[in-house]
Amino acid sequence: MREWEKNLRQVTPYVAGEQPKDLNKIKLNTNENPYPPTKNMEGLLNNQSEMLRLYPDTQATELVEELARFYDLTTDQIFVGVGSDDVLAMSFLTFFNSEKPILFPDITYSFYDVWANLYRIPYERPALDENFHIKKEDYYKVNGGIVIANPNAPTSISEDLSVIEDIIAKNQDAIVIIDEAYVDFGGQSALPLLKKYDNLVVVQTFSKSRSMAGMRIGYAMANPELITALKNVKESYNSYTMNYPSIVCGAQAVRDKDYFYETLDKVIATREHVKRELRGLGFQMPDSKTNFLFITHEKLSAKELFEALREEHIYVRHFNKPRISNYLRVSIGTDEEMNIFLRAVMEYMKEKGILN
Ligand SMILES: *Cc1c(COP(=O)(O)O)cnc(C)c1O
Repeated sequence: MREWEKNLRQVTPYVAGEQPKDLNKIKLNTNENPYPPTKNMEGLLNNQSEMLRLYPDTQATELVEELARFYDLTTDQIFVGVGSDDVLAMSFLTFFNSEKPILFPDITYSFYDVWANLYRIPYERPALDENFHIKKEDYYKVNGGIVIANPNAPTSISEDLSVIEDIIAKNQDAIVIIDEAYVDFGGQSALPLLKKYDNLVVVQTFSKSRSMAGMRIGYAMANPELITALKNVKESYNSYTMNYPSIVCGAQAVRDKDYFYETLDKVIATREHVKRELRGLGFQMPDSKTNFLFITHEKLSAKELFEALREEHIYVRHFNKPRISNYLRVSIGTDEEMNIFLRAVMEYMKEKGILN
């Protein structure tokens, strides 16, 4: 072994869903929104290349002010970053500095253990129950912090806000992060609890409900002391995380409330339709409050169905992990995309002799 090898930071990175170059594929594997972002931002950057000469506003004031208006918060309660992945990573670095283990469920967003390993934060993963729900009592023990995705991924399940509140209330000596990447699609946000608890951090993203995964915008909402701590860490690392286009386009997206709600309604209507169709075909799934479905079928191998769909240029997600290896996560696309998906599933079931 060469001497310097001992000093390398050895990490196993997060594996994202495939991004095929060819846009003709039906892409239901990374929970992107099938609808474009608001048209209000088109042309916004024309003739503004002069702005790129300058360093951007480190405080992303325009975007933060717009978010504060939208959520009825003060600007010192909001921290923005380059996607919620950046905000979450920064939160782990800022809030989880105890010798005690942090807690998150065994089945959840697979970036949490990656960050914990990167920052050498000890962690424990209490198992979800047999229906993939959180057992809140598992979070009543001594810990160095908690992170919970609600609704959860890849299960699509939204926990009742009372469950989340009990966990926050019982852990007032630690920071509890609630990752609400999917909350706009029908979950219950913990945001109202900010008034009551100073140990709560709510994290959201523009990547799913606002159709802007490519722009990379995420944000944390918490009491001003925690937000200041986050800003201090960020500014000790890279002052200019948010670029100028993200700040102005992000602000513009937040201003267009009508389009936001209209898009959400469309995705939700499609989701409910696809739920009914798949249940009719014998699939089982939790009652998704997200923009994806987590499906399984007693008579089908999820892995084989995943491969068969891929042959048809339909991409969904399969996780080769304990407890969920016979499930597929299917993002909600347009009605047209979902009909092609459903037809391909039916064809496959006919080939297998499960459907006439
Ligand atoms: C998609 C997702 C994120 C990250 O989204 P960004 O694109 O980085 O904003 C965070 N948490 C969960 C649970 C997600 O599904």
